[in-house]
Parts: sequence; structure tokens; C-alpha cells
Amino acid sequence: LKKEIPKRLSRARQKKHIKSRGQKHPDIERKALLADETGTIFKTAPRTIGLCYPNPYHTAMSSLGYQVVYRMFNAYPLLAAERLVLPLDPDNYRQRGLQPLSIESGRPLGSFEILAFSVAYDPDITGFFELLDLGGIPIQRKDRRSTDPLVILGGPLTASNALPFSPFIDLAVIGDAEDALSRLIPLLAEATDRDALFQQAAEIPGIWIPEYHGEKIPPTQKVTVNALPAVGQIITPNTELSNMFLIEASRGCPRFCKFCLVRSPESPMRENNLEDILNAIPAHAPRVGFVGAAISEWTGIRPAIRAVVDRGMGVGISSLRADRLDTEFVNLLAAGGYRTMTVAADAASQRLRNKMAKGIRTRHLIKAAQLAAQAGMQKLKLYVVIGLPGEEEEDLAELVALTQELSRIIPVALGLSPLVPKLHTPLGDTPFAGIQAIDHTLKTLRKDLKGVAEMRSTSAKWAWIEYRLSQGDESAGLAALEAWRAGGRFSHWKQAFRDVEERGALNAARRVNLWQPAGMK
Ligand code: SF4
Repeated sequence: LKKEIPKRLSRARQKKHIKSRGQKHPDIERKALLADETGTIFKTAPRTIGLCYPNPYHTAMSSLGYQVVYRMFNAYPLLAAERLVLPLDPDNYRQRGLQPLSIESGRPLGSFEILAFSVAYDPDITGFFELLDLGGIPIQRKDRRSTDPLVILGGPLTASNALPFSPFIDLAVIGDAEDALSRLIPLLAEATDRDALFQQAAEIPGIWIPEYHGEKIPPTQKVTVNALPAVGQIITPNTELSNMFLIEASRGCPRFCKFCLVRSPESPMRENNLEDILNAIPAHAPRVGFVGAAISEWTGIRPAIRAVVDRGMGVGISSLRADRLDTEFVNLLAAGGYRTMTVAADAASQRLRNKMAKGIRTRHLIKAAQLAAQAGMQKLKLYVVIGLPGEEEEDLAELVALTQELSRIIPVALGLSPLVPKLHTPLGDTPFAGIQAIDHTLKTLRKDLKGVAEMRSTSAKWAWIEYRLSQGDESAGLAALEAWRAGGRFSHWKQAFRDVEERGALNAARRVNLWQPAGMK
């Protein structure tokens, strides 16, 4: 799941990009990006939709979902879609009175009749505010006029908690979008009256219209394998996944990890046919990225990698389970140019992994390191969730000992994520560990692993903001708006959330009888 969600640009990289490109006029910037793309769709149609991504281009174009929706909208004869992404330096745009321009034709954001946002991650709500604001569009729905654009929400975030977006959007697609969009797109293309559009759209499973449905969000949609595979459209060197053609070989997961949104049965594994996958890969793709939360469980993964390597293409994999690795598999990855083995331990100790139903054992992680080293890879990246319920000092000591052991085999990079309990998972009502506790854990690990492994972590404060949004209701969205308007520093977030109910979304779900967390049982 972590690898499914595109990474945000680090501050240092943002600064570098701003320095090199960000001060240019948006039209020069977008033309430079276009020149590097293959697969761009240029289309004119009676109505054009602005497809917005609340993060910069670099992250947007690593999102397979964003690319799929781009193609789906453009496939409808009466509709065209153009992409709009968050500028690297929104304040600079603001000071210069500039609007974000669509990448395809340079059309200003505020001139679209419909804006559809793809949002992956709760704190990206601030990028959503930035884009609307830069486009001169009132952020709250209640302040918009009928001549302002219709604002639509979709993306991975909707599978968790879309309630904070309630005051800002007209309509959302909840969960897998393919089926709902195939019915919504003709309505968007042909509607002449918004009320009629809403009435018809409200009948589509998975469509949430806050003004009609209130806090009763419809069940998260899961498409069948017939709507898959999701296939990329644009190849560009200017992304996290440089020059990579993305294809989703499987969706969902057969496992049951208790913190995970993609777990079965919430998102059962849907496997695509190997032949369909291979046939969808264009001959000009320099690299192929196989996407899927449980891609190493996909039965076609080995022959698919072999076929791609035989075609002389590089390979990327969105995530690997350590217990699925063996010499043949790892050597195939190495032949496809894989230099860093990325696996998830997902808990600091075996005791906690068992408690989370992770199904990975310490020996699998050690074996992964050995296989990576034998295949000539340069690094093992290990993802660990900290702040899990019941985590003790001994669990952290076990993580330190394991990291030391792994680092004797291959250089190790630890990626630490504080647990942000998500709705629709058994841990949905688990308490957040707290900023102090997370900071203490990070400090301890940094001290004990100094010189042993690289360590990267989401900050405790940032995790708290994510927690408040992922558990919040409409008032959390309004608090985010207040914090963003005040300047977006942590003190602003803290102040804005002072009177906001901490479990607003969970309590709303209970009120309207939607969903209950199963807990740790
Ligand atoms: S293996 Fe576990 S963490 Fe990974 S996608 Fe499946 S349920 Fe989620």
C-alpha cells in the first residue's frame, strides 16, 4: 500500500525544482513537461474537464489511478480531459497573479466547467485548497455560484475517509472508480442542469453527493476483474518512476494485516490474466512498473518479469512480500535493473507482526537481505510501522537487533511510519500513539542505529495531522482550511483542531450505521 501511494516531494527536492524550474512562466513550464512526454492525449470536445492533482507533476505522473481516469474521460466522444497539477511554489504564483495552466493546452484552472480531483492521502487536502484558491474559485461549496466549476473528488483517499472534504466538493466517487465513472461520465458530458445531474448521479453506486447524502457515504466500490487491468497512459522521465509504463497486474490482497486498507475481505485479490498484461505493454516503454498492493502474490509475476526483461525493458515492482522471495525471483528482479530490495516488516518485532496478522517472520526478512546481496543489489529498504498498539521497549530492541543483523548482510535503509489508524480496518478505533511517544521512539532508534542504517520517518507531528484528518468529519476539513489559511505551520493545525471531535468520522459512521471497527480480535 505504501508503494501504491506516490511519495510527496521532499522539501529539499522541492527547493531544487523551484530553483531550476519554478520561477518560469507556467506556460514555459508546461511546454517543457509536454516535450518530454509520450502518450499525451490532445483532444477537443464540446466539454473539457480539468483533472487536478493536489501535488506537483513529479508525483502526479507516478499515480496510475490519475492516468487511468485521464484516459477514461478522454475516451468519451463528447468529453476531453486536461491535467492540472499543483505548482511547485504556489505562493510565487499567487504573488505574480498566475493561475495553474492545463498541461495539454495551457487553459487556466479557473476557466473549466468541471474540476475532478484525484486525492491519495489525507493531508493533500491542502493541495486541493491551493489549487481552488489559485484558480480564483471559492473553496467552500456554500460560497460558490452556479457559474463556478463543479468540484468532484476521487482517488485512494475515498476508500478511507472522504468526510473532511464534505464542505468543499459537489460529488465524490468512493473506492474503485471504473464502474461508477463509466456511468457518471456520460452525465457529466451531457448535463445541462446541475440539479438533474445530481439526481441522476445519486443513483449510481459509489457516488456520494454531500448535499444529498449528508454524512452517509456509500459503501466503498470494488470493481471486478472485468474492469481491469488499469494501464498507464503517459511515459515521462519527470516522475518518481522515471520513464516507466505503469500497469496494475492485480488489485487488492488475499492477506489480513490489521492496519491495512487493502486487506481481504475489504479489498479481495483480483488477478489479471498474464497474456492481457503482456499485450498491454507498449513496445516503446523503457521500463515497466507492475503495480498492485500484493503484486508478489500475483501468479503471473515471474513470467511477466521474465518476458519484460527478454524484451530488453527495465522492471519496477510496487511492493514485495519477503516470504515470496527466492533466488530465481530475486535474480529476475536484478536482471530487470532492480537495485534496492524493498520489503515490509510492518512491525518492530515478531510478537507484533503476529498480532497484526502480518504473516512475515524474521527469517523471511533475513533471507530477503541474503538474496538481495547475492543478486548484487545495493540496498535493503525495510518498512516498519511504529506506535502499534501494545508496542513495548523490547519490541524496539528487537528491531534494533534485526537491523544490525541485516546490515551485516547488505546496507539497510529503514522507512518508519507512525501508525495512523484508518477507518475500514480492524484498527480503525485504535488510539494514535501520541506525538511525544513517537518522538521518543524515533529518538531511541536513531541513537541505537547510528552508523548502522539510514533512517527515514514521517514526523510525529505530521502523522498527528494525518491522524486527525483520517479520523475527522466535516469539521476536520474546516479546521484544515483554517490551518492552511493561517500558514500551515504545526501550531496552526493544533490551534485549528482544538475544538474538533477527534473521532468524528467514526462516530458519524456509527450514527448512520455504516461501519464498525472489528478491533484486535
Ligand atoms: S500484505 Fe498486508 S499490508 Fe500488504 S497489502 Fe496485503 S493486507 Fe495490506
